[in-house]
Amino acid sequence: MSSYVNEIKRRRTFAIISHPDAGKTTLTEKLLLYGGAITLAGSVKGKRTAKHAVSDWMEIEKQRGISVTSSVMQFNYNDYCINILDTPGHEDFSEDTYRTLMAADSAVMVIDASKGVEKQTRKLFKVCTLRNIPIFTFINKMDREARSPFDLLEEIEQELGIRTFPMNWPIGSGKEFKGVYDRSKKEIIAFTANNGQREVEATEVDINDEKLEALIGEDHRKILVDDIELLDGAGGEFDLEAVRTGRLSPVFFGSALTNFGVEPFLEEFLNMTTSPLPREADTGLIDPVTNEFSAFVFKIQANMNKAHRDRIAFMRICSGRFEKGMEVMHMQGGKKMKLSQPQQLMAQDREVIDEAYAGDIIGVFDPGIFSIGDTICTPPQKFLFSGIPTFAPEHFNRVLQVDTMKRKQFVKGMSQIAQEGAIQIFQELGGGMEEVIVGVVGTLQFDVLGYRLKNEYNVDIRMDGLPYQYIRWIENEELDPKTLNLTSDTKRIQDLKGNRLLVFANEWSIRWAEEHNKELKLAEFGR
Ligand code: GDP
Repeated sequence: MSSYVNEIKRRRTFAIISHPDAGKTTLTEKLLLYGGAITLAGSVKGKRTAKHAVSDWMEIEKQRGISVTSSVMQFNYNDYCINILDTPGHEDFSEDTYRTLMAADSAVMVIDASKGVEKQTRKLFKVCTLRNIPIFTFINKMDREARSPFDLLEEIEQELGIRTFPMNWPIGSGKEFKGVYDRSKKEIIAFTANNGQREVEATEVDINDEKLEALIGEDHRKILVDDIELLDGAGGEFDLEAVRTGRLSPVFFGSALTNFGVEPFLEEFLNMTTSPLPREADTGLIDPVTNEFSAFVFKIQANMNKAHRDRIAFMRICSGRFEKGMEVMHMQGGKKMKLSQPQQLMAQDREVIDEAYAGDIIGVFDPGIFSIGDTICTPPQKFLFSGIPTFAPEHFNRVLQVDTMKRKQFVKGMSQIAQEGAIQIFQELGGGMEEVIVGVVGTLQFDVLGYRLKNEYNVDIRMDGLPYQYIRWIENEELDPKTLNLTSDTKRIQDLKGNRLLVFANEWSIRWAEEHNKELKLAEFGR
C-alpha cells in the first residue's frame, strides 16, 4: 500500500491550452526535454509542416492523427511523474478540449506576449473555469516585442475574470529583453538565448543596489525598481488556496523557443499543483489513494492507425493502481472484462504498459463498447463517476446515404462516430436510419464526418444544411409532440434512445413554443 501512496502522490496531470501559435507545442517540447522524454526538441509533432487552411479536411485528418499520437505525454522530473495532455487548437474541437480538461487536475494557459488574450484563449479558459481547476499562465515570446506586462495582466483579469499574481517580472522585451526578476527569490535570471540547454544562471540581487546596472543597464533597473514597488504595493497577496481553486492564476513570463524561464516555471508549477484529486461519483467522492482501481473514459479515437483500424478508449485513472490483465467492471455495460493491450503514449511511441496509477491516462483497445463518460472499476466497487456533460449542438445537417445498399456500413459508421462524441444523431419522429439529422458544435465536424465515412467505412453521403440553431429536450413524457403548436421553422425530432426533442431556428421560436403550449416543459440540452 505504501508504494501506491508514493506513486500516486508524485503524479501531476495537466492540460496545456492556448490560442493557435501562442507556443503550446514549443513549450510542451521544452518541458519534455527536461524530463529526458525526448532527446530532440522539435520531435513532438510534425505540425510545422502541416500549417494549413482550416477547411481542408485532408489536413484535418492529418492534424487529427498527429495530435493524437502526442495527446498524452508522460515524463519524470525530479521526484514527479508528469502527465501532459495536449488539446486540439481549432475552436471547432473545443468539445474535445473540454473532455480532455475533465481528465486534468490543472491547466497551463500559454499567451503570446505581443497579442495577449485571444479568441481561443477566451473560449478554452471558460471551459477550465467550469471545473474550477487551477490555471497557470505562461506569457510567452518575451524575446519578441511585447505589450506592457501591466496591460497583459489587466487584460487577463478583465477579460477572463481571474485574479493574477506575477511570479516573475520581465525586464524589457524583444531586442531589449534582459531577463526576469523572480519575486520570491529576489533573483535576476539574465536572458541568454540558451536554446536547448538546461542551465540558466540566476543572480541574487538587491534591486535597489546600483551594481545591478551592470547586469541590465540603468534604464531597465529604474523601471524594474518602479514596477516591483508598484506590484508589491498594489498587487494582492499570494494565496495558494485561491490558486488551487482556480481563483488566482500565477503568471510566469518567459520564452519557450529560447528555453528561457521554462525550468523555473516547471519547478514552481510542480510545487503549487496538487497530486490527483478525489473525483465525484454517485456514491460520493472517490479517494485516489486506495487499493481499488477506478477510471473513466474521456476520449475515444477510432482508426488512429490506418493499418490496424483500431479504436482506442482513453481513460483517466481516478484511484488505485492499474495492472495489465486485471479484471475490471465496465459499469455502463454491466460486464466484467479485461482491458486489452493497455498503452501509454510517449511522444510518438505507443508503449504497452504493465501498470499505471491514479492520475495516469491509459489507452485501451475498444471493441466498440465504450462511450464517453463511462466508468470502469474493480469489483466489488459499484459506482458511476459523474458524467461528462455534452455541449448542445448548434449546427444541424440532414444526412442521406447515397447508396442505400450500404445501409449496414452507414449505420455502423454513424453510430461509431457518434459514440466518439464528435457528432450527435437524431431522427424524424418515428423515422428510421435511412435519413438522419446530425447535430454538431463546430461545423468542421461535418467535414470530418463526410471524410471519415468515405475513407473508413466506404460510404458516400449527401448533406443538406438545416436552419436550426437551438435544441431542447421535451420533458413531459406523456405529451404527444404532434399536438404542439409550433412555428413552421421548429422541428420535432428524437434521439436514438427515443427521447423527444425540439430544434429551433431562433430564440423567438423557443418563446413562441413556451407561450403557446402552457403544459410544455423544455430542458436545456446536456447529458
Ligand atoms: P502552438 O500553435 O500554440 O502550438 O504554437 P507553436 O509552439 O507551434 O509556436 C508557433 C510559432 O511561434 C512557431 O513558429 C514557434 O517557433 C514560435 N515561438 C514559440 N515560442 C516562441 C518564443 O518564445 N519566441 C519566439 N520568438 N517565437 C516562439
